[in-house]
Amino acid sequence: MQIAIFGTKSYDRHFLETANAHFGHQLTFFQPRLDEATVALARGYPAVCVFVNDRLDAGVLAKLAEGGTRLVALRCAGFNNIDLRAADRLGIAVVRVPAYSPHAVAEFTIGLMLALDRNIHRAWARVRENNFALDGLIGRNLFGRTAGVIGTGQIGALVARMLKLGFGCEVLASDPSPDPELLAAGIVYVEPKELLARAEIISLHCPLTPATRHIIDKDAIDRARPRLLIVNTSRGALIDTQALIAGLKSRKIGGVALDVYEQEEALFFEDLSSEIVADDMFQRLLTFPNVLVTGHQAFLTEEALTAIAETTLTSITAFEAGRPLQNRVSGEAIRQRA
Ligand code: NAD
Repeated sequence: MQIAIFGTKSYDRHFLETANAHFGHQLTFFQPRLDEATVALARGYPAVCVFVNDRLDAGVLAKLAEGGTRLVALRCAGFNNIDLRAADRLGIAVVRVPAYSPHAVAEFTIGLMLALDRNIHRAWARVRENNFALDGLIGRNLFGRTAGVIGTGQIGALVARMLKLGFGCEVLASDPSPDPELLAAGIVYVEPKELLARAEIISLHCPLTPATRHIIDKDAIDRARPRLLIVNTSRGALIDTQALIAGLKSRKIGGVALDVYEQEEALFFEDLSSEIVADDMFQRLLTFPNVLVTGHQAFLTEEALTAIAETTLTSITAFEAGRPLQNRVSGEAIRQRA
């Protein structure tokens, strides 16, 4: 099948081409994201493949349909960037990659936690300058600390286990659907308020929904323990960044590690090193010595990229053969689940 791949980075190309050796589709790679300005590039392609920041609103989808596109393959789990109802209406099928490697994200989360807590990011910068002084680098043991995991789905469950079984933390969890295996492993489910009041470290792994938006806000920060550490590898808007900055300034918050950021769409995945970044809130965050930010890379392992490429091309092959689509998302299915 002819597939137009948008928002291509070198790693997308490498892993999709490698996987395609045993699928035999015709892949055309475009660097720009798919949006109103670039949709003309997709004309004549029955399938398009996109990522988290491509914009597939009703207007773009109408142009895709007009140009002959019948399948959109999201090479990610989230589908907040596509108007599923419009896709249904236009007869465009949509598939995604629901799970590619929860281990990739969970392990990165622990990496961020350790780096933040033990000042590894600051030590690395010092040593490059031949500064071997240790003042200001004192950390704390994870063993015996109380960690709170919000959201114990695929990723959060792994993080909770790693903290409990790997590091000997006391682990509190909050999730509307508690995981019996975590309960059996000694992880204690509590109400979100209690988690916020008791945890010394909080790791966020719930999805972004109207209910979880700004789950970490001024109120939560006020109620938290002093010197709270926060790690967010889930979605940026789970945290009210203004309140976070205020908490850092007042020293209520002891440190923050973020792989995601509320306004990341204008920044992440691009090389802006020669640009003036206009986002003052983001720039302020970077000035704190106890803030560590990465650009949405928790998923970025060879295993995850291989799984993304394989699942995406498997779905496209099934579509071409007229077989049922296991990873299909549709407006109707979402409406029924809500
Ligand atoms: P999942 O669907 O398996 O788990 C989410 C869990 O959150 C579920 O158990 C659900 O019951 C729970 N939940 C829902 N509402 C909640 C609430 N109000 N409070 C507490 N828990 C709540 O999802 P997952 O695969 O574990 O992914 C978790 C998050 O990680 C998602 O937001 C996803 O977008 C993000 N993610 C980030 C990266 C990255 O590279 N940084 C990569 C993949 C996924």
